[in-house]
Amino acid sequence: MKYISTRGYDRKYSASEAIIEGLAPDGGLFVPESIPSLSTEEIAQMKNMQFFEISAKVLAKFLDDFTEEELMSYTRQAYSEEKWGENPVPLVQMNQYNDREYILELWHGPTCAFKDVALQLLPHLMTASAAKTGLDKKICILTATSGDTGKAALEGFKDLPGTEIIVFYPTGGVSEAQKMQMVTTEGSNTHVVAVNGCFDDAQTGVKKAFANKELEAKLASNGIMLSSANSINWGRLAPQIAYYVYSYVELLRTEKIEMGEEINIVVPTGNFGNILAAWFAKQMGIPVHRLICASNRNKVLCDFFSTGTYDRNREFYKTTSPSMDILISSNLERLLYEVTGDVKVVTEWMTDLNTKGKYTVDPKTLKTLQRNFVGGFADETGVAKTILDVYDRTDNVIDTHTAVGFNIYNRYHLRSGDECKTVFASTASPFKFAPSVMDALRGTGYSSGRSIETVIKELSDESGLEIPASIAELGSKEIRHKDVIEKEEVEDKVVSILLG
Ligand SMILES: *Cc1c(COP(=O)(O)O)cnc(C)c1O
Repeated sequence: MKYISTRGYDRKYSASEAIIEGLAPDGGLFVPESIPSLSTEEIAQMKNMQFFEISAKVLAKFLDDFTEEELMSYTRQAYSEEKWGENPVPLVQMNQYNDREYILELWHGPTCAFKDVALQLLPHLMTASAAKTGLDKKICILTATSGDTGKAALEGFKDLPGTEIIVFYPTGGVSEAQKMQMVTTEGSNTHVVAVNGCFDDAQTGVKKAFANKELEAKLASNGIMLSSANSINWGRLAPQIAYYVYSYVELLRTEKIEMGEEINIVVPTGNFGNILAAWFAKQMGIPVHRLICASNRNKVLCDFFSTGTYDRNREFYKTTSPSMDILISSNLERLLYEVTGDVKVVTEWMTDLNTKGKYTVDPKTLKTLQRNFVGGFADETGVAKTILDVYDRTDNVIDTHTAVGFNIYNRYHLRSGDECKTVFASTASPFKFAPSVMDALRGTGYSSGRSIETVIKELSDESGLEIPASIAELGSKEIRHKDVIEKEEVEDKVVSILLG
């Protein structure tokens, strides 16, 4: 199966080429030429499989220049018990008296957020893709991060032969816990550098490094190529399709649904990657009734699904669900291509987004989107209330991002009377956002004045959940990355790290 650009670039790519390149030369995103399907028999057979096996089966349909055996060997390593516990992505019934709601816990990996699912596997896909495309260079992953992505990428690429990884984070823009997670990273090929400034300063520096042809040539002559672990890479999206297939199979296996029965999927959304993976699962043949796209106060997607106009010209809010604080949801471009099949209109809309900050889709496209997606948004009070409500109702403590999903679903359920079984993507461990979660449980302002260690301990006592090892050990780990640079020094830093 070949991959094409959403903007119609005149060349087709193999899966491994698409993974290595990341972005098409015309600025479009790679999409598969057609979407493979899963037959009823194939879905039924998966009832006897573990997650890593289902993952390899699903990936084999999209990445057909890899054999199923190759993929199985990568997924087995990526989703090992050592890294994830016995079940990497447990599907948990919310409440024994209610067989409608199920929570898909995607945060049992090394950094306690769902991005681990893709970023534990991507390094394997990337090095294998390099070998398949005959690339004889060392791959250096370059990333600017505002939080979760940087640490998940560091853990994924740590000590992987043939790779280096450099993460730039802003001094003023990551939480103390996120910073501690990054600067204590082990591994002989990991580099973490603070950039004086905000996220945009770090991001701009990294973008400049990618665009610098002189730097590219200099690194190439030393056998090094720069690459990105950003969520627009198909190699990050494809692994996420597998857990939606898995959740359907689990509901079948535990006899909560019958084959063919439709389910809803609720996803707290930022860059539109995670929910797009659910949409691909639906297109493959997983019976899905509604995809519920949950936004926080930065509700650009919610407005888009109700009006057909995507408009980023608006105030930006910092919320208690920071990983969803986004005004440009890059992966939406893929959905627009899939729904219209028209590279010309997609290119026009994306040009409008660049130049005017907004675009409007035609009524027919909007109708198709509305048949598949329900949008909604939650404000900060709503998120806090939902955390408390879910805890009172079901004894589950959820994080602030996951709470956005529950908030919107609760209103949807009341309004629509839709009784389909529903899977909630739970995207982060509540311990990762412990102060906001404890404020929701104990009252606004509760965590201020209390140390983060105290708040985490209290959250553990309240919820009965064990503190994840990677969070418990943070305070006692050695700080290994201390470099701080100015924003103009990003490219020089890349050179000095890679070429000495
Ligand atoms: C990245 C992230 C999201 C948003 O996912 P997208 O794929 O960008 O829509 C939601 N929750 C958490 C905890 C995240 O880290």
